[in-house]
Amino acid sequence: MNAGSSALRVAQRSDVGRVRAENQDHSAVKTAGDSRALLVVADGMGGHRGGATASRLATETLVQRLESLSMDDPAAQLRDAFLAANETILRQSQQSPDLRGMGTTCSALLVIDGRAWIGHVGDSRIYRVRNGVAEQLTADHSLVASMVREGLLSEHEAEVHPRRNVLQRSVGVVADMEVDVSEEFEVLPGDAFILCSDGLHGLVRSDEMVSGISTGSEEEVAERLVDLALQRGAPDNVTVVVGRVVEGSDTEPDTAPAAIAGDSETRMRQAGGGWMGWVILVALLAAAIVGILMFGPGDW
Ligand code: CA
Repeated sequence: MNAGSSALRVAQRSDVGRVRAENQDHSAVKTAGDSRALLVVADGMGGHRGGATASRLATETLVQRLESLSMDDPAAQLRDAFLAANETILRQSQQSPDLRGMGTTCSALLVIDGRAWIGHVGDSRIYRVRNGVAEQLTADHSLVASMVREGLLSEHEAEVHPRRNVLQRSVGVVADMEVDVSEEFEVLPGDAFILCSDGLHGLVRSDEMVSGISTGSEEEVAERLVDLALQRGAPDNVTVVVGRVVEGSDTEPDTAPAAIAGDSETRMRQAGGGWMGWVILVALLAAAIVGILMFGPGDW
């Protein structure tokens, strides 16, 4: 990546927690060079095997679908990836009786060359920390969150409400699932992103996330946040993905990234290489013609 541009450094951590027997959360991080990244958190629900299967299928489908992302309308491709995940989970749940009714939350952050998009269904969250302030970029699709929006509950009442786990939207449950896809937004050096399941954001306040990310590597930050939830009893699975935007390093080799097809930077480099090739070819040809005119064809 060119000097002066930014790169996203990422880490993820997931823990079964202190009470549950099985971890039904899944997360995924996929990067291509410095310029592209996909971060995903999914929190599955459903009986035996179901929840973990649904969240795994959601993260896998998103990663597969967006591996061959083109520059043409990333938001639409992100939405399509969510719809594909929905279809895959729904189909498997209809085929296997023990997976029936499974579903999952899914929150994804897609970053391409300093621009970003969010896809979101459910009550996992994506926060952006900028200038020491955490902003929740996703809206919870939960019963209590909609009651808060309607003024029927306070934020605090929602946090302790007995039905706070009831979701109004999830991936893999109905055929006509609705997806929240954000407008394109800019990522800036210094920005940090925290994607997490409710096992984390139910126990760790956003101001604690801000102080949690202030020091250490991304791995240390992810571990610190999960540890905080574990210290508080972690009744649910706890999953976090941390992404931090840093200035592009001058020491990075300035070669085409191992990028996904359609990378604009790669295309520009290829175009540049082709142009130089023509200049050299024309120069050699001109030199040869001048040589022939001055000295005759000779023996060659
Ligand atoms: Ca959960």
